[in-house]
Amino acid sequence: MQAKISEIFLSYQGEGPFAGSRELFVRFYGCNLSCVFCDTMLESYKSFSKEMLLGKILDFDDDYNELVLTGGEPLMHADFLKDFLPLFKKHRGHEVYLETNGTLAGELEKVIGDVDIIAMDFKLPSSTENSREVWLSHEKFIEAAEDKQLIIKVVITDSTTIDDIKMMGNVLAKFNKDFVVILQPVTPTGSHIKEPDGEMLLFFKGYVNKETGKDVSILGQVHKCLGIR
Ligand code: SF4
Repeated sequence: MQAKISEIFLSYQGEGPFAGSRELFVRFYGCNLSCVFCDTMLESYKSFSKEMLLGKILDFDDDYNELVLTGGEPLMHADFLKDFLPLFKKHRGHEVYLETNGTLAGELEKVIGDVDIIAMDFKLPSSTENSREVWLSHEKFIEAAEDKQLIIKVVITDSTTIDDIKMMGNVLAKFNKDFVVILQPVTPTGSHIKEPDGEMLLFFKGYVNKETGKDVSILGQVHKCLGIR
């Protein structure tokens, strides 16, 4: 079995509570969503077997903290990861950090045993302009994350509605497990993707915190400030 991979590189985590951590990124090709603010849909890829990917990873020094599976949507390659991750863990002791859009619960179940940290996006329809609503997919995904360390990231734009924030609050409030929620103001791209108003962002933060009882932070994309990828 092979997987389509767009790039493999060392850099620093640019989002969430691990921001600044040195990481080895494997960027998988392709995604099941089409968010309006997407900045990672690459055109090119190379196909890797699990042995080829391991060899490429072992070529890097091991002075990084986590192996990050990113995309695109890495869980579109769950069958490949199910074979690859145990192999990786035999050779390297790094934690596996999965960055995902949080919609493919069945695929997560295939690899959950070898994933240590999950950073999932919560895709609000008003922010992403995706054609389908994802409330139920996200709910199933959070269930499938079991007791793994879970970070839930929500990109907020000037189009984000309070109705979507309320719907998300309803979903998150159902869970009696530990996770952190990050509201991430969008990095403006093109002419129509705009940052949210600061007061609105603070209102959303207060609302989600009150409704869910979870830690809620506002954090931007640090890697864009640092000028790294
Ligand atoms: S889920 Fe991520 S990779 Fe997929 S379209 Fe949205 S922003 Fe892009």
